[in-house]
Amino acid sequence: MIIHIAGGAKIGASATIFETKHTTFAIDWGGGLAAGKQKPQYEKMKKIKHVLLTHAHSDHVGNVMELVRNSRAYFHCSMATYDLFIQTLINARYQQEDLNVFAGRAIIYNHGDSLSFAQGVYVYPVAAGHILGASSYQMMIDGISIFYTGDMCLHDQALVTGAMLPDRQVNVLMREATYVDREGVDYQTEANRFVRTIREMFDRQMKILIPALAMGRMQEVACLLYKAGVPFCIEGARDFRRIYAEHLGSDAAFLTKIPEFVSMKDREDRMASSEGAVILASSGMLLDNTFSARWANWIAPRTDGAILLVNHQDPEAVGGQIQQIQDGQCLMVNGKPTVKGCMVERFELPAHLSGSNGLALERSCTNTDSQILLSHYPSHKRALAFVQAQSDCRHRKVVTLNERIEL
Ligand SMILES: [Zn+2]
Ligand SMILES: [Zn+2]
Repeated sequence: MIIHIAGGAKIGASATIFETKHTTFAIDWGGGLAAGKQKPQYEKMKKIKHVLLTHAHSDHVGNVMELVRNSRAYFHCSMATYDLFIQTLINARYQQEDLNVFAGRAIIYNHGDSLSFAQGVYVYPVAAGHILGASSYQMMIDGISIFYTGDMCLHDQALVTGAMLPDRQVNVLMREATYVDREGVDYQTEANRFVRTIREMFDRQMKILIPALAMGRMQEVACLLYKAGVPFCIEGARDFRRIYAEHLGSDAAFLTKIPEFVSMKDREDRMASSEGAVILASSGMLLDNTFSARWANWIAPRTDGAILLVNHQDPEAVGGQIQQIQDGQCLMVNGKPTVKGCMVERFELPAHLSGSNGLALERSCTNTDSQILLSHYPSHKRALAFVQAQSDCRHRKVVTLNERIEL
């Protein structure tokens, strides 16, 4: 069997291809919008017969429609991933015909099912935590057992339950390495600090903006605020919220009932009021032409304002820059020069494997004969340095780059 890490191994355009004795299949086909122009690199797209989609984030599914056009592949995913992905296509203004072509080739699985789409290939999707519908795959391919994590989260988040560690040993562990060399903060401790900070600011009548990634992060943050009884308004990602509510039932029904702004006057009144305000808006990094960037134009200059960033901020994005500049300095937000007068604070609510989670995973399903392949990391150099620094490394660990691995 040959494995191609076709999307490069960094976060951005996840795509892995398995050439087995009897078929060629892929896991994820990411890239596109959020990742700039990154695309999976694989010339023989026509040969791909099946594709497993771990979850609906664009770094994992962003180029699926290109694969739909250039192959006759079938796409296997969970119902929630399907719903979220179709909604992403609708938001990106794909035509109904395009949606129909994808829908006609989509095959829905449940976690715990057993899939076999070719001789010698057996796949068992399991819940990966991370976001609604996310999957990891336990696989047996031509007699080689593989555990493929996708983006994986072991701890419970506010809405999505954490993943279970696999209980059987595998020949090959292919794991995400987003935080391979970082010990993430404890989710619950940080969630408590986050809610406490908002409550204190709200009581001081501050205007608080929380920019949040539309798929996953926004729903989790909304749940934290809702459970804590903090009054807040929401802007953006209405359809993703509806899909979360449909799949999670009564636990998430509140997502469709959060107050929204009905007019510009409504927004202006909220800003002019003497009371505090909490606004949860997409996108997470204050990208141009998004709700959060528009709110940042109003809130950033205010000395009674606060922008509470959640999770990773690209240093080039406004979310990254606004942390670095001093009070009174100006930066371009949503195409407008905007002076920073407000407080800016960042919180970490992880939805990936932390450093120690990753090691626990490795211990749970590998032995001295196993091979561990790391990908989906922010920097190849850092991932490599981390692996080399592990003196007690019992395994043959490979930090994958854009490469071809023969097993
Ligand atoms: Zn993801
Ligand atoms: Zn990812």
